[in-house]
Amino acid sequence: MNVFITGGCGFIGSHLAERLLGRGDRVMILDDLSTGAMENIAHLVGRPGFEYRIGTALDAPLVSEFVDRADLTVHLAAAVGVRLIVERPVHTIETNVRATEVVLAAAAKKQRPVVVASTSEVYGKSASVPFREEQDLQLGPTSHSRWAYACSKALDEWLALAYASEKKVPVVITRFFNTVGPRQTGRYGMVLPNFAQQALRGEPITVFGNGQQSRCFGHVNDAVEALLRLVATPAAWGQVFNVGTTTEVSMLDLARLVRDTAGSSSEIRLVPYDEAYPPGFEDMMRRVPDVSRLERVTGFKPETPLAQIVRDVVEDQRARLGLVTVPA
Ligand code: UDP
Repeated sequence: MNVFITGGCGFIGSHLAERLLGRGDRVMILDDLSTGAMENIAHLVGRPGFEYRIGTALDAPLVSEFVDRADLTVHLAAAVGVRLIVERPVHTIETNVRATEVVLAAAAKKQRPVVVASTSEVYGKSASVPFREEQDLQLGPTSHSRWAYACSKALDEWLALAYASEKKVPVVITRFFNTVGPRQTGRYGMVLPNFAQQALRGEPITVFGNGQQSRCFGHVNDAVEALLRLVATPAAWGQVFNVGTTTEVSMLDLARLVRDTAGSSSEIRLVPYDEAYPPGFEDMMRRVPDVSRLERVTGFKPETPLAQIVRDVVEDQRARLGLVTVPA
């Protein structure tokens, strides 16, 4: 299979590319390196069947050329990460909405199949956990920039479903919950790589708010597996799927687990939200997926244990920081 990945130099994209090449598929990547990095695909460059282009997914002729050559397009290019979103709302909205439009319009010419990556952010601040794909979304006011991300991705979903029903484009929408693993950068605010770096450097581990807010962390390998199973399942096309795990952990407990895993003696420091984020930010207390649709349709339930996930991230950060693993 020939697979075109927008945002292929990013965290999830590079893992997907690696997996596809490993099973003998051909992979074409387009990435503008805004949040992705060449180092994520350095080990793939030169491998048979691998091709990459540095450019933007807003470039309609270029996107169209790749979509035409591909049996499947996976649209991962987006502005992601809470810090980036709050600091660059114009970039976030424009990138997320326009690029998806460009990809879907290209796919519509010959009804090419597309996976559109979405996010658990679309559930907004809904408190009715676990989140089910068909439940109402609950976003905050437009004066709070965080919700611009959720809204832009929700619009992507509407657009994808509209292309599916009106223009007969086969689409699958994946709502990724907190997805973590090796190669994820902490630069855009993601909690786990940040905690791991802080622990390994012996710096205070910064837990925002009172640390009682929780998340469910899924391993990127599971996210990739879920995506591949979805595209291989005819019944999945035309639908939206939560992709994530259901094991909840508070940020305070996560900080402790990271500290223990890293063998660190870092202090765990509570940082008030108004010091952690610019104005216009609201955190949510819980975010838990209902993954029964994914399991029912594909037979797959992501469940790499949290301890394993944290070990993988700590070891990755240790390598990036040039630190040596101390044998237990
Ligand atoms: N968080 C934290 N310390 C950090 C970065 C994030 O306590 O250094 C918290 C953040 O406030 C949120 C949780 O960790 O409650 C997850 O944050 P992340 O940005 O990784 O994902 P999201 O908020 O999108 O779920």
